[in-house]
Amino acid sequence: MPDVELSFLAYLRGRCRSLPSIHLGIGDDAAAITPNEKLQLSCTDQIIDGVDFLSSEHALKDAGYKSVAINVSDIAAMGGIPKAALVTLTLPVENSTKIAGEVYEGILEASKKYDIAIAGGDISTYDGPLAINVCLLGEVAENKIWRRSGASENQAIMITGAVGGSLLRRHLRPEPRIELAQELQTLVEVTAAIDISDGLSLDLDRLCAASGVGAELYTDRIPIHSDATKLSESSGRSPFQHAWSDGEDFELLLTMSQQDADLIALQRPDLGVTQIGTTVGRTGLWRKHDRKLERLPPQGYMHQGTTNTDNQANIKQNETSKK
Ligand SMILES: [Mg+2]
Repeated sequence: MPDVELSFLAYLRGRCRSLPSIHLGIGDDAAAITPNEKLQLSCTDQIIDGVDFLSSEHALKDAGYKSVAINVSDIAAMGGIPKAALVTLTLPVENSTKIAGEVYEGILEASKKYDIAIAGGDISTYDGPLAINVCLLGEVAENKIWRRSGASENQAIMITGAVGGSLLRRHLRPEPRIELAQELQTLVEVTAAIDISDGLSLDLDRLCAASGVGAELYTDRIPIHSDATKLSESSGRSPFQHAWSDGEDFELLLTMSQQDADLIALQRPDLGVTQIGTTVGRTGLWRKHDRKLERLPPQGYMHQGTTNTDNQANIKQNETSKK
């Protein structure tokens, strides 16, 4: 056990909040969590220096924050709320305690914001780059869980917020749509959901594939983030292309009945949830052009071990078409 772990246990015990459902948190060989009648959700995501962020350019606090927030986005996409996290830091030997401290500043900030208890984890050092792994536990009522596979034909395809251009620093401080998802739970019946981590078109294609449907998109209604417009000035790509294929937006794609979509449009335009299409029986992504359906190839970030996060020309615009 490296020294950093011993000193960190004391530090963490003092700083990590607990929750009533955490029977035992940091300090024992395993955390003990009191079960309840809901379904437990679990997800995990790891970010690595040089792959998902650059410690030479990004604050380690932001990397810590992001490691929690991206998992919160996955819980949001299931319609649930986060509860407890297990955090594993794999630290370079040099400056390990300082690095751990900076990373934890962000982890603690995000866990406070999203009401998450740090229930345990592990810290080790090695001769390699910083890796931050968060395993997040959450919960959702059984009849309220959202899945990728629940969409059927003739349902509305909705998107939260606006997409594209997250590379202009938004990707460092993702804002998962957990509150909005919970609000939607009370308003409408979401039939399928996914969060946008790898690009609007790629993640929509995944949802459609899981549901066995296709999508007819109203491409002019896709909300394009101002960052996409800004980025297009130097990238040589259009704002739409950024919105279509940039990753790390952490917005949600949802399907619901047309009636529910109309209800949101009429009664809650303030939510910023926009209908961008309709599910169709013919698989694939489509748009109507001159009264004919034209196929749109999904594009986005395919995970394949790239080495430079900030070079979105490499990573996020690695336009690999799935089909
Ligand atoms: Mg996801």
